[in-house]
Amino acid sequence: MSERWFPDSMPQPMVDKESLPWWQAAAQHRLTVQCCDNCQYCRLPPAPICSECQSNKSHWEEISGKGTLYSYTEVHRAVATGQTLPFVIAIIQLDMDGIGTGNSVRIMSNIVDANPDELEIGKAVSVAWETMSDTVSLPRFKLLSSS
Ligand SMILES: [Zn+2]
Repeated sequence: MSERWFPDSMPQPMVDKESLPWWQAAAQHRLTVQCCDNCQYCRLPPAPICSECQSNKSHWEEISGKGTLYSYTEVHRAVATGQTLPFVIAIIQLDMDGIGTGNSVRIMSNIVDANPDELEIGKAVSVAWETMSDTVSLPRFKLLSSS
């Protein structure tokens, strides 16, 4: 049983043909990025064509889920009933662990289990999976312990 931070009433993600493999990996608590077969440029969210070389061939790579806080905002208005306030929406710069070209890949998510006063651009974070249902898990992020 994974931890829960957001209520079941949260809007559910839209899954399409392009993003299905990402959601399937997420359901297994594996964070993946889509990488171009031709030039190795990696991307999120998934897209049918590489923005760098326009190739339509790609594969999936699993990454560690570590990263740094690139940007964030504190939200004081609920988007779903039963939601704890405030909550934090963040953009995470993902560590690419030598995968692909080393280009920046970012993901929009939430920082959980942190007082917003503790947050600071550049702080280290790590993925924390939230199982929303049998088929949907969402990557949230926690601050790595800091002194
Ligand atoms: Zn490419």
